[in-house]
Amino acid sequence: MHNLTPAAIRLIDFYDDGEHARHFRFQLMNPDPGVSSSVTAVRNDWMQAKTGQFFMLCLPAVGEAPFTFTELPDQQGYFRALVRKMGQVTSALFQLKAGQILGARGPYGEGWPMDQVINKSILVVGGGCGLAPLVGVVNQLVAQKNYTQMMVVYGARSRQARMLTPERRQWQQAIPVLNAIEDGDLEPGQHEFSGTPVDLLPMVLSQFHQGPEVVLLAGPQAMMFAAAKHLVTSGVPEQGIYLSIERRMHCGVRTCGHCYLKDKYICSDGPTFRWDVLQAYIPQSP
Ligand SMILES: Cc1cc2nc3c(=O)[nH]c(=O)nc-3n(C[C@H](O)[C@H](O)[C@H](O)COP(=O)(O)OP(=O)(O)OC[C@H]3O[C@@H](n4cnc5c(N)ncnc54)[C@H](O)[C@@H]3O)c2cc1C
Repeated sequence: MHNLTPAAIRLIDFYDDGEHARHFRFQLMNPDPGVSSSVTAVRNDWMQAKTGQFFMLCLPAVGEAPFTFTELPDQQGYFRALVRKMGQVTSALFQLKAGQILGARGPYGEGWPMDQVINKSILVVGGGCGLAPLVGVVNQLVAQKNYTQMMVVYGARSRQARMLTPERRQWQQAIPVLNAIEDGDLEPGQHEFSGTPVDLLPMVLSQFHQGPEVVLLAGPQAMMFAAAKHLVTSGVPEQGIYLSIERRMHCGVRTCGHCYLKDKYICSDGPTFRWDVLQAYIPQSP
């Protein structure tokens, strides 16, 4: 049986990050001394969260919604998530003040397959809020320098819509970070290009000494699928391409069936999938 009782978390602080989006920092609240061992076990699960996994954020009397970690829980229980305001849960979250208590359960799902990623030539492609699940993996790879070559491509509809600017600026000091701005309103000197991440791929691929061995994709499904197809056509092995998929989900623990896809559940078999595996599950336009 899964324990669906949320752990108490405190909203520590936040800042606006792009249009209708905020980067939030939370802290798992310390269990009281003498608290039951099940509470300690929940905390241990959080401490072992992996990049690419997600959690359910629980707002009492409002509802729950899934979000990926942009920063995994540290020893003090602090973690971060970038949230775009969409509807009920996220609007209620944006009303909260620092210090308020809410709930979270997880971590859930399969994270990025780090054993397949490290010490390879790596291309990371994120679109909009979809860069969020990639932040942890890029931070880790850049900090530990365990790649042979690495590039990040980030796509946004407009300059105003760009998210995770401090993170992208920091990565830029170690690796090339190219920004695709769809409306073509470019900021001089900021490594910006007009178009979508898919438009940039031919140029990006030509910068790799031997082509990327691993590609991590997250963002709008149409962008990810177009990018994956272009990459395969350009010679990148299907088995090296991984995507993070979003679906409406409720329980997060393969029970409610909302994210069921043939014999897979996005919540627990995903949200990260290898491209050759995923293709068999999602109908695609030609
Ligand atoms: C595994 C996973 C990880 C996610 N990580 C993040 C993250 O890091 N940051 C972030 O901002 N968002 C993330 N999302 C999306 C986020 O969960 C939804 O935006 C959130 O559930 C909206 O809740 P709400 O109650 O505010 O909106 P609702 O009131 O439920 O919906 C408002 C509108 O948004 C649409 N909508 C809601 N959820 C989705 C969805 N998953 N796909 C398409 N349309 C949707 C609804 O159809 C409706 O039109 C993630 C989703 C999944 C499945």
